[in-house]
Amino acid sequence: MAVCPECEAEIELKEAIKGEIVQCPDCGVELEVVSVNPVELAPAPEEEEDWGE
Ligand SMILES: [Zn+2]
Repeated sequence: MAVCPECEAEIELKEAIKGEIVQCPDCGVELEVVSVNPVELAPAPEEEEDWGE
């Protein structure tokens, strides 16, 4: 179980892989798995999608 750094929602990860990008089901932010034991999440760098503006 990991905790979203943005909204503190609990995120269940069955198979956490370091470097994997997951999305918080609660606030929708993209998070990178930075550690797997214990699982730690950090906001993913915004680079793959262009949201405009
Ligand atoms: Zn969240």
